[in-house]
Amino acid sequence: MMATQQARALLASLRARRPAMLRLLKQFVRTESPTDAKSAVDRFGHIVAAEWRRRGARVNFLRQRRSGDHLRVIWPSTAPRRRGQILILGHLDTVYELGTLRNMPFRLARGRAFGPGAFDMKGGLVIALFAAEALAKARWRPRRRVVFLWTSDEETGSATSRALIEREALRSDAVLVLEPAAGLDGRLKTRRKGVGTAELIVTGRAAHAGLNPQDGVNAVHEMALQVARIARFNDPRRGITVSPTLAAGGTRSNVIPASARLVLDLRAERQTDMRALERQLKGLRPILPGAKIEMRGGFSRPPLEHRSSAALFARARKSARALGLSLREASAGGGSDGNFTAALGIPTLDGLGAVGEDPHSTSENVVINALPERAALLAILLAELSSDWS
Ligand SMILES: [Zn+2]
Repeated sequence: MMATQQARALLASLRARRPAMLRLLKQFVRTESPTDAKSAVDRFGHIVAAEWRRRGARVNFLRQRRSGDHLRVIWPSTAPRRRGQILILGHLDTVYELGTLRNMPFRLARGRAFGPGAFDMKGGLVIALFAAEALAKARWRPRRRVVFLWTSDEETGSATSRALIEREALRSDAVLVLEPAAGLDGRLKTRRKGVGTAELIVTGRAAHAGLNPQDGVNAVHEMALQVARIARFNDPRRGITVSPTLAAGGTRSNVIPASARLVLDLRAERQTDMRALERQLKGLRPILPGAKIEMRGGFSRPPLEHRSSAALFARARKSARALGLSLREASAGGGSDGNFTAALGIPTLDGLGAVGEDPHSTSENVVINALPERAALLAILLAELSSDWS
């Protein structure tokens, strides 16, 4: 356990670096990096890589054809015994189109820094850099390998990075995720729902709605009956929700519809509930004679369950206490890459990134004063996990 005195000294040294943190955040935010613009994400990746190299880290680019390249940053270890690994996850991409800066420039007001991606999660990337820098100054010698993985496609579901994230996670003793904190008091995310999308395709038979409706099979009617059945799968108290979010069917006002389509948003807090819900959906059978149904899709991110994060959160709370801060936890309805690592059984703690408000919106912002505090918290956690975590 890091002594309170050391922890406070680390925080003081990071507070002195606050102007440098803010300058780097400005540069990061001003380098736009929407997920679908490979050259822009790569340009940003090079800037991030240069900052890590300047601080003595080794950086590998994991080249991608269509999405931006992923960055694997390895912190050098001079400690004698080396076993295990600590993985820190973050993403380079944002949800903001190229050119967003014109209407949403980087700006400072009322103690906040505004701009596209400032909170989700360029602030988190800055926090990680300065945490590592502060540890280096304090002569940190990790006994475990420390890997920072900065991926390029988190905001669209991590299609090209998921396998890489899972491979690194399986070698790791713990995973720390730099997604934004919850609320202005900077709560960590110790639970995240699993998220998915399913699609119900209904096939009926067309007929004239006036002359011979009895010869048709109404796909919209079948869909409606299925919606009523699916509604029974909801169990909000257990954190299970199935929400019809898009529906379409039919061609003309006087034609019995031959086809219909329904999209469902799926959420669950537990892996067992996730699997049970998928089974229930796949098990649906047609209700109207002659109708056919097909269920596609399912969960794309499994839930991050509390048991995956509880021990790490207890550590983080102790670290925060050494800094004179109190730390609380929260659950999140949406998923992150931490959902993948937790589902593999690797202890995972999320929400260690910036404190701020309004992600994915025109007023996205971070709390400037919290930047050094979050860097100090991450630094202490890293120092402890990389030496005596078992
Ligand atoms: Zn994010």
